[in-house]
Amino acid sequence: MDKYSRARKFMIKDLKARGIYDKNVLRAMEKIRRDLFVPRSYKESSYEDTALPLIKNQTISQPYTVAYMLQELELNKGLKVLEIGAGSGYNAALITEIVRPGRLYTIEIVKELVKLAKNNLKKAKVNNVRIIEGDGSKGYEKEAKYDRIIFTASAPEIPKPLKDQLKDTGIILGPVGGDYGQSMIKCKKIKKEFDCQNLGGFIFVPMKFEV
Ligand code: SAH
Repeated sequence: MDKYSRARKFMIKDLKARGIYDKNVLRAMEKIRRDLFVPRSYKESSYEDTALPLIKNQTISQPYTVAYMLQELELNKGLKVLEIGAGSGYNAALITEIVRPGRLYTIEIVKELVKLAKNNLKKAKVNNVRIIEGDGSKGYEKEAKYDRIIFTASAPEIPKPLKDQLKDTGIILGPVGGDYGQSMIKCKKIKKEFDCQNLGGFIFVPMKFEV
């Protein structure tokens, strides 16, 4: 039990009521303390269904969006996953919790956020995440290929290196569109072709591209 156990249970109840049914996702969100990933001044709002500011104009996504994306990512034990945009490290902690002993690699372009994510993951005692500092639009060739790729900053289209680094039958998911509104796109790779679905409108911070 911790100070926010009750609030976390309410969050789970609310997520279920809004259509989140994936047991892996619900279990991970009940276990991982979001309050450990939220800045001190917003702790009391940790379990409200809202996005919260981090540092450097970045945000931790609202719980419903996180749950929805992870449910659509069809995660299971043993998968190898790549995330673009570690931010607070919260999403990384959830994915790790679900796929263990499979592994999660997460790329973050802002140095201060790499440090923040590392510290938060340590506080939450999640210790098998690999955080790489760099431009995630290029993917992470060294550990490719991946069963799942999720990007949590929006891009005008799915970056090609990410498509290349996805395994056959793998799933890639993220917000695609302009800076002020995007569609959540989910694609399955089938024999080098991509079968894509539009899951509806969302708003994310834009992906930065190294020049
Ligand atoms: N998944 C995060 C929230 C991500 S916010 C969480 O759970 O808290 C989007 C993040 O993407 C920001 O931290 C931003 O710095 C990062 N980002 C933007 N462009 C990027 C790029 N090209 N490569 C890696 N990270 C990037």
